[in-house]
Amino acid sequence: MPGRSFKIARIAGIPVGVNPWWLVIVVLFTWILGDSYYPAEVHGISATASYGLGLLSILLLFASVLAHEFGHAIVARRHGIEVEEIDLWLLGGVSRLKGHPQRAGDELRYAAAGPLVTAVIAAVFGAIAEVLPGSAPAALRAVVDYQVYVNVVLLCFNLVPAFPLDGGRIARALLWQRRRDLAAAIRTAAGIGRAFGWLMVVLGALSFLEGDVDGLLLAMIGGFVIMAGRAEEAQEQVLEALAGIRVRELMSAPAITISADATLADAQRAFAYQRGSVLPVVDVDGRVLGLLALDQLERMPRAGGRLASVGEIADRDPGILVDGRDDIAELFDRPAFARTGHAVVVSTDRQPLGIVSRTDIERALRLSRLRADHHGTDTLAPDH
Ligand SMILES: [Zn+2]
Repeated sequence: MPGRSFKIARIAGIPVGVNPWWLVIVVLFTWILGDSYYPAEVHGISATASYGLGLLSILLLFASVLAHEFGHAIVARRHGIEVEEIDLWLLGGVSRLKGHPQRAGDELRYAAAGPLVTAVIAAVFGAIAEVLPGSAPAALRAVVDYQVYVNVVLLCFNLVPAFPLDGGRIARALLWQRRRDLAAAIRTAAGIGRAFGWLMVVLGALSFLEGDVDGLLLAMIGGFVIMAGRAEEAQEQVLEALAGIRVRELMSAPAITISADATLADAQRAFAYQRGSVLPVVDVDGRVLGLLALDQLERMPRAGGRLASVGEIADRDPGILVDGRDDIAELFDRPAFARTGHAVVVSTDRQPLGIVSRTDIERALRLSRLRADHHGTDTLAPDH
C-alpha cells in the first residue's frame, strides 16, 4: 500500500502505526454511516448525533482491528518471534515480524489467532444485541448491530484463502502440515490465492458495471491479493535458490577496515583506494565495532565545528555482524541488512573476515537462475 505509516502509540512494547489511507477510510465511513445508516435506523436523529455515532462506530472498528492484530502478536511472541510493529491500514492491520514461524503448527496458531479474536468480538456484540431489552434506545441498538455486522464481514474477509489474508496463511499452514514441504505448500496456496484474487476482480468488476460502487473496492482488493501473492512466491523462490548457502561462500575477502579513531578525512582516503561503499570499523584490537558507509560520510556537514572520528559516526547495530557459517537466507530477516545492504562477516572473537552485500546475493541468484536454465537444476551448490 502506498504511504508510510506514522506511529501513534506503543502498546505492550509494540509500536502501533497508522497508514494515511486509514484516515481516508475513517472520514469516508464516518460520512457514509452518518449520512445514511444512522438516519435510517434512528428516527429523528440530529445530524451531529448521527455523524458522532458514525465516528464512534469507526473508532470501535479500529479497536477491534487492533485487538485482532494483537491476537497474532501474542501468539508470535509465545513462539519466540519478536513483533517489530503493527500497522493499521486500508483493509485492517498488518503485523511486521522479525523472523518466521518455524513449524507448520506454529504458523497455523499464529494465523488463526487474529480471526479467533474477531470471532469473539463479533460473538460478544451479538450477545449484547440479544440481551438488549426492547426499551433500549434505538441509537444504542444501531451501534451494536453495526459492530456485529462489520466484525462478521471482517472475519469472513480475513478467512478468504488468499495470501496475505489470514485464510491464505491458514491454508498454507495446513498444506505445510500435510505435505511437510513448505515450498510446495506456498506454491499451492499461492495458486489458490491467485484464483480467489481473480474471482474478486471479476465479481467486483461485474457488480461495478451493474452500478454498485462497492464492486470497485472488491476488484481493487482482488488486484492487491494477486500482487501480494506474486511477491510472496517470488520471495520464496529466492529463499529456495539460496537454501543451504553459507554466508562465507558469498563474502568478499579480505575486508579492508578502518580504525575507530581515524578522522573523516582518513575515511575519505580509504574509500578512494578501494571499491566498496562500506568499511568495517575496528577498535585497537582489530575487533569490529560497526560499519561506515560512504553515504554516511556524504551526509556529514562539510565545514564548521569539530570533525568527528569514524568511531563516532559508525553504525553500531549488532545486526551488522554475521557468522560466516550462518545461512545466507538468515540475512533477509535482519532489519540492519535491509537498511545498509551489507553485513560484516566476523570470527568468534569479532575479527573481520569479509563483507557480504546485497549485490553479492543478487549476483549469486542470477548465477543460480542461469544454472537452472542450462542444467535443469535450481541449486546453487558451488562446483567442487
Ligand atoms: Zn489477521
